[in-house]
Amino acid sequence: MGDRVAVVTGGNRGIGRAIAVALAADGFAVAVIAREPATAADTVAAIEAGGGTAFALACDVADEQSVATLAREVAERGPVHTVVANAGVAGPTAPLHEIALADWRACLATDLDGVFLTFRAFVPAMITARSGSLIAISSMTGKRPLLGRTPYAAAKMGVIGLVRTLALELGPHGIRVNAVCPGAVTGPRMDDVIRRQAAARGITEAEARASFTAASPLHRLVEADEVAAACAYLASDVAASITGEDLNVNAGVVMY
Ligand code: NDP
Repeated sequence: MGDRVAVVTGGNRGIGRAIAVALAADGFAVAVIAREPATAADTVAAIEAGGGTAFALACDVADEQSVATLAREVAERGPVHTVVANAGVAGPTAPLHEIALADWRACLATDLDGVFLTFRAFVPAMITARSGSLIAISSMTGKRPLLGRTPYAAAKMGVIGLVRTLALELGPHGIRVNAVCPGAVTGPRMDDVIRRQAAARGITEAEARASFTAASPLHRLVEADEVAAACAYLASDVAASITGEDLNVNAGVVMY
């Protein structure tokens, strides 16, 4: 893939880190984006230890100026082929009538505005290059509701509308736009979701965890590497016919 650059927002940890590592293994020079670039040092080191190329840059995806600056900085490193809008927050877990407007807005600012701002910043160069792959990390909750998570669901369902519409818009320019919809991914964030679901539903954490695995015909959660593999596929030329797709990686919990 030569010196093609892939950008991964929230690449410092969690799913984003797995995505950054997978794209580096496929030969991309990876821009690992974090609000505090020092927190991306481990991801960069892991990629370099594997013989890949990576560099850390700072960006708050909810901040228009910060994203515009990022696009300029990345452009200095090489032509951007793939952008993965992965950065996200869980938002509040509460009945809608108890959610403060500020908390609603904070969730949408990162999870929906952040995708808009990130894609918008990189699209012009992709149009000039007449190629590119934009990937948004939505969620299983972009497909079906999750109790107490109205802001998150609104944002993640919004991402799918953005992706489909942008795929229509950018297809004639040779640019593909897709979403990946992970199910519950193992790790600290999922542990926190389970804790909050248990509190919201008045059940134990063990019961909340079991409700996630029981919903899967495979009786399992998802590994971050499996989400990363889906992104690597969508970034690759093998996926040349795939655009406007929202690809489930959810162990069969949602099948549409
Ligand atoms: P984590 O909470 O582990 O990581 C979130 C990442 O997003 C961090 O890198 C964080 O950076 C970054 N981030 C948050 N807000 C901003 C911001 N304003 N600007 C820049 N970066 C920001 O989450 P996961 O790895 O679990 O999730 C990654 C994506 O996958 C999210 O979009 C999430 O909604 C989605 N997802 C996760 C699932 C799961 O089970 N984990 C299931 C389905 C979807 P910082 O270190 O600075 O906080």
